[in-house]
Amino acid sequence: MNKKAFVTKEMIEKIVKDYPTPFHIYDEKGIRENAQAVKEAFAWNKGFKEYFAVKATPNPYLMQILKEYGCGCDCSSMTELMLSKAIGVKGSDIMFSSNETPAEEYAYAAKLGAIINLDDITHIDFLEGILGKLPETMSCRYNPGGVFTMSNGIMDNPGDAKYGFTTEQLFEGFRILKNKGVKNFGIHAFLASNTVTNEYYPILAKQLFEVAVRLKEETGADIRFINLSGGVGIPYQPGQTGNDIRAIGEGVKRVYEEVLVSAGMDDVAIYTEMGRFMMGPYGELVTKAIHEKHTHKEYIGVDACAVHLMRPAMYGAYHHITVLGKEDAPCSRKYDVVGSLCENNDKFAVDRMLPEIEKGDYLVIHDTGAHGFSMGYNYNGKLKSAELLLKENGEIQLIRRAETPKDYFATFDNLEIFKNLEKEFKKNTCQ
Ligand SMILES: *Cc1c(COP(=O)(O)O)cnc(C)c1O
Repeated sequence: MNKKAFVTKEMIEKIVKDYPTPFHIYDEKGIRENAQAVKEAFAWNKGFKEYFAVKATPNPYLMQILKEYGCGCDCSSMTELMLSKAIGVKGSDIMFSSNETPAEEYAYAAKLGAIINLDDITHIDFLEGILGKLPETMSCRYNPGGVFTMSNGIMDNPGDAKYGFTTEQLFEGFRILKNKGVKNFGIHAFLASNTVTNEYYPILAKQLFEVAVRLKEETGADIRFINLSGGVGIPYQPGQTGNDIRAIGEGVKRVYEEVLVSAGMDDVAIYTEMGRFMMGPYGELVTKAIHEKHTHKEYIGVDACAVHLMRPAMYGAYHHITVLGKEDAPCSRKYDVVGSLCENNDKFAVDRMLPEIEKGDYLVIHDTGAHGFSMGYNYNGKLKSAELLLKENGEIQLIRRAETPKDYFATFDNLEIFKNLEKEFKKNTCQ
């Protein structure tokens, strides 16, 4: 499949008059269509809920769109909980799936009535110590260890992952929780990341359903939900075929009937915590070519850097690039497309065949809608970009302004030196 940007050169030339590059832009129409498809794919399950993984794209405007489709929020920190509450998502519409959790975050999650998903057996006592009494509904994160294999060879390595209870601990944990008065139970597992195959959820679900049946038999726990978490991937590479959420929903339904329904557990809710699949393809980072450099290699220097999108630097991840206005031009040049950090891994593309790029060209870096802006940092004193929403009616809405030097220095505000910095903000028009 050819990858096409959802913005055009004409659109961007207009947008940059108000919002200079770089910025992330999100496609409302794409987000809505996909959220609707997810909802339909699991409509067979009465209790189904997608808890959007807030860490992927913690923007209240985007979270609010998903809320219209019945999505809750999967939170992993205090600020993500606060954000969810601020858009009116609370109670059991919040899943708190964190690890190495500070006491005050557990306390706040409990105050909001969130479902708490424990990462470790020792957290049972830790949580009880904070709350006095455990909530009636509790979930535990399961990590069976070993490797996770699928028929196309993709696998991940849960045995190497810091998360979750072992099988033994899960059974023991359920017994302890039950003795402490917990009434409703959930199981959660995240065993493989960015899976581009319709098989992942069904294989994971079967594994969890079988454990659920045994847990019910051996501990008497009333299992109310099974949380398949995230891990459903997107086709970052051209030529890759994306997941078919309908086929995934059907695959989960098949094993649900095979394992749970035949064990008399036909009222278990299915939960998901997708981040990447919900938002990834519907965000793009728009940046401008501002330099070209011909040394041992051919470089195009752009006005975005790893601060705006860390995945290529961090994981060597592939993000497709479209040169706007040159969509049909031959990819005749081999470039490294690089940002301005003093780090040689600050490269959006290495040895990438692209059309000939001239200074002033706009480049679209694809699939930045999840784990894009949110992973950003401030190395080299670089400021985070704005986030824009391309609305269904074609209008552009600013959903987060770009950082200014004042934001960057804000945490010095109780120090004497801040006065000098403030003078600079006043003098400096770029504030
Ligand atoms: C990161 C994360 C997710 C979302 O993962 P995606 O790969 O974006 O779907 C869901 N649940 C938990 C606990 C996570 O840590």
